[in-house]
Amino acid sequence: MESNHYKDFSNIGCTVPSRVDKRSKKDPTLVNINGIQIGGSEVIIIAGPCAIENREQLLETAKLVYAGGANILRGGAFKPRTSPYSFQGLGEEGLKYLAEARKQTGMPVVTEVMDTRQMELVCGYTDIVQIGSRSMHNYPLLKEAGKCPKPVLFKRGMMATIEEFLLAAEYILCEGNQNVILCERGIRTFETTTRFTLDLGAVPVLKRLTHLPVVVDPSHGTGHSWMVPSMAKAAIAAGADGIMVEVHNKPLDALSDGKQSLYPDDFAQLVKDVEKVAHAIGKKLLLHKPAPV
Ligand code: PEP
Ligand code: MN
Repeated sequence: MESNHYKDFSNIGCTVPSRVDKRSKKDPTLVNINGIQIGGSEVIIIAGPCAIENREQLLETAKLVYAGGANILRGGAFKPRTSPYSFQGLGEEGLKYLAEARKQTGMPVVTEVMDTRQMELVCGYTDIVQIGSRSMHNYPLLKEAGKCPKPVLFKRGMMATIEEFLLAAEYILCEGNQNVILCERGIRTFETTTRFTLDLGAVPVLKRLTHLPVVVDPSHGTGHSWMVPSMAKAAIAAGADGIMVEVHNKPLDALSDGKQSLYPDDFAQLVKDVEKVAHAIGKKLLLHKPAPV
């Protein structure tokens, strides 16, 4: 039992906007994606390539992550790349492959939207709309996501405080969309050995302050595939409702983020290890439904 002292929010230096505030809603928000609930007692796994590169790569990776235990398939068709000369994604062609992978595996899919003008198109293909770290401050996009009929996977800006993150999430809720999943994906610090500093402390803070589900992306959060399993397990131990990890059928050939992408076999092992951590803290891993025949 928590003491009253622990229930007091004033010991966290953060003002919480009303709609995301845990005190405004008795029960935790459960985001339902085709029967998969995020935010309850079951830990969920989102996996797939950073970018959809071609049909074969996506379908192959989708089958492998499904076999390894993924519940939801990820893959970017519109990619926010640091360099304008890097692969920018296949656009609508990629969304079509994503829809095909969804049909073949039965897994719901999540993909990023970067521009208000793409919202309708992306919503037409995806089960969850992702707003990436670089777009966290794109308020017109947040308002658009607030009006869209799909749940939103909302990533923390790499230079945003938790308060700024929550205020940005509030924009989405203000427009009527309550189905927001918060995602910690690492922040910029002075550290250079990792791509970002995965702020796992944000997990208990967000859980304490909001009713929204929280997932962690240890792939972007570390930048190194060898670190992903440890940080994925740590994320679940810290109370995250799920993880999102990048997996590629051939990481060495990946057009983006190969260094942080897991081999499918390592992903399958990670899922088994995450399951043990989930059990240790009184949760379960969501077992996926059998693939449609
Ligand atoms: C991603 O998940 O595809 C991505 C680009 O991540 P982030 O927005 O966190 O950099
Ligand atoms: Mn990536």
